[in-house]
Amino acid sequence: MDGVRAVFLGTNGWYDTESGNTVCALIDAPGFKVVLDAGGGIRRLGDYIDFSVPVYMFLSHFHIDHIWGLHVSVKFNYTSGLFIITGDGGRSILDVFQNRPFTIPFADLPYDVKIIEAGDGFADLPFGATVLPLQHSVPTVGIRMDILGRVIAYCPDTGYCANAVELARGADLLIAECSYRPGETHHEWPHLNPGDAARIASEAGAKSLALTHFDASRYETRKDRMDARSAAEMIFRNTAACFDGTVIDL
Ligand SMILES: [Zn+2]
Ligand SMILES: [Zn+2]
Repeated sequence: MDGVRAVFLGTNGWYDTESGNTVCALIDAPGFKVVLDAGGGIRRLGDYIDFSVPVYMFLSHFHIDHIWGLHVSVKFNYTSGLFIITGDGGRSILDVFQNRPFTIPFADLPYDVKIIEAGDGFADLPFGATVLPLQHSVPTVGIRMDILGRVIAYCPDTGYCANAVELARGADLLIAECSYRPGETHHEWPHLNPGDAARIASEAGAKSLALTHFDASRYETRKDRMDARSAAEMIFRNTAACFDGTVIDL
């Protein structure tokens, strides 16, 4: 394909249900691929790409719903390398998680895995990237990417914060989490409700908003997600509620 496409492989937060796997999205571009978080939806990655080009995997934080899909790394053959982008400190956390007795260490997989922490800088990436801390119960980062002139921001697991707006500034697509139901907030456990996500998109002057990471305990049906979209649309018109398999062309 010539353009840039977002494919939502997993759209649940917290745990898998009949309505979806946990959070993972593919950004499909000519020459390389980007994977946003490695929840259970990553099992579908091989349905969409052939691994002949480098894959850049961004991990926002290390809550299990965002990383347990790393366990299926052995299922894929990243022949041109797997590059994992994390916030600072990610390397030592992955040394624990991606290791025995939990799973097969990266070093034992039949392809090269390189971990790039934010502090290492992103000069070697084939796309522009900015990573900023978000507001969550553990250190969490969001990312802004310029891929062939298309700007995509990914803001998972965060409360409303200035950095989320900054990452989404003028973006063609803001992919935002939507854990809470319309109007719901809990300051001790920061997440977005549909209105919060829409407010970020609106204040940032983003062109479109995709809601994902629907908390599995709060969003049990497709209608629940469509209700979230309706609530967001009251603040930001161009909003999509994602399901596993949703495709957005940019
Ligand atoms: Zn999460
Ligand atoms: Zn989280």
